[in-house]
Amino acid sequence: MKKSKKIYLDYASATPIDRGVLNLISKKYKEFFGNPSAIHEMGVDAKKILDESRENIASILKCHKDEIVFTSGSTESNNIVIQNFKNIVTTNIEHASILEPARLANTTLVPVEENGIVDPKKIKKVLTKNTNLVSVMYANNEIGSLQPIYEIAKEIRHFNKLNNTKILFHTDATQAMNYVPINLEKLGVDLLSFNGGKIYGPKGIGALYIKRKIKISGMILGGDQEYGVRAGTENLPSIVGFAKALEVTEKIKEQERKRLKKLQDYFILKLLKIDGVVLNGDRENRLPNNINITIPKIPSDLLVIEFSARGIMCSAKSACKSGDGKESHVIKAIHPKSDDVVGSLRFSLGRETKKEDLDFTLKSLKEILTKLERWYN
Ligand code: PLP
Repeated sequence: MKKSKKIYLDYASATPIDRGVLNLISKKYKEFFGNPSAIHEMGVDAKKILDESRENIASILKCHKDEIVFTSGSTESNNIVIQNFKNIVTTNIEHASILEPARLANTTLVPVEENGIVDPKKIKKVLTKNTNLVSVMYANNEIGSLQPIYEIAKEIRHFNKLNNTKILFHTDATQAMNYVPINLEKLGVDLLSFNGGKIYGPKGIGALYIKRKIKISGMILGGDQEYGVRAGTENLPSIVGFAKALEVTEKIKEQERKRLKKLQDYFILKLLKIDGVVLNGDRENRLPNNINITIPKIPSDLLVIEFSARGIMCSAKSACKSGDGKESHVIKAIHPKSDDVVGSLRFSLGRETKKEDLDFTLKSLKEILTKLERWYN
C-alpha cells in the first residue's frame, strides 16, 4: 500500500522552507548585491539589511544585537563554544557537534535519567573550581526530552556565588526554537546555539548568542566580520530568511505547540497499543512534535526503509548518524541495562502533519510488523 502523496515525518532532521521566507528572499534579491563590508552605496545597503536581520532576531529573543553572531549552522555554533573551553560539564545525550569537540577537552559527561532528562543536582555535584563551561541541550533531537534549563542555570549561579567562580552556561536550543518560549533576559544562559534549517528557514545558516562581556575566540580566522568571532562574507540571503523564519515561528509557536500536542497524544496512545512498542523519553516533558519508539528485535534502519517504500519519511537515530549501523548513544543512555535495544524509530511532526497522516502511518506500521514478524520473532 503506497500513498501517492509523501508523508513527511522527519521535521526534526529538516524543515521545508516557509513560503513567506522564500518570497521575502526573492523580493529582496537585488538588495543582496553588495558585500556588507564594502563602503560604496550598495555595500551600505547590504549592511543595512544585515543589521536589520540581526536586530529582528535580537528583539525576538530579547537580547542585544551585538550578542548575535551568524554562523553556518548549529554545528559551527556548538563547535565555537566547546572549542573555547578546557574543562567542560555536559550530558551523555548531546548532539555529536557537542560531544565530538568535547572529546578534545577535559569533559565530564553527566548521565541523564531513564526519562532522558538530566537532574540539575547531578550537574551541580560535578562542578569544580576548574570547570569553565556547562553545556546542556534545551531539547534532545532524538527523543525530544526537554531539559530543566532554568533550574540548571540556578544551580550554576549558586555554585558561582559560593565559590567565586565564573562558570558559563551554554544551551544548544536547535530543536527547541519552534516550540519553547525563549527569552534571553530570563533564561539564565550565557551562550545559545540555533539554526535556520530547523525553523522552516534556509539551511546552512545559524547563530550563536554570546552574552555581552564574554570573550569567545572564533575558529574561522580572517576578516573582522561578526564582531571578530566568525570571519567571512556574510550569507545575506540566508540571514534575511533566517530572521524571517524566526519571526514566523515565534508568531505561531503557541498555536502549533497545542495542535501538535494533540496529534502527539493521539499517536502515542495508538502506538502503545501495538504489542511490544516502547516509548522512549519522558511522556510529558518532551517536544510536542516528537515521538520516539523502540520496537524490540527489528533493526530500525529496516523499518525506515519499509516506511519509505510506503511513502512515509521517518528516521532512526539522529539523521547525521543514521545509516552507520551503530546503536544510538541517546537510546543507549536511557536504557543503560538493556542489551535488547536494537534501535529506535523517530517520527517528528510539523506544520503540514495532519491526523490522517498518522492514521496511515499506524496502518502501515501494522502491515510492516506483520510482514517482518516471521523473520524477527
Ligand atoms: N544540535 C542539534 C540538537 C541538532 O538537532 C542539530 C541538527 O540535527 C545540530 C545541532 C546541527 O545543526 P546544523 O545542521 O545546523 O549544523
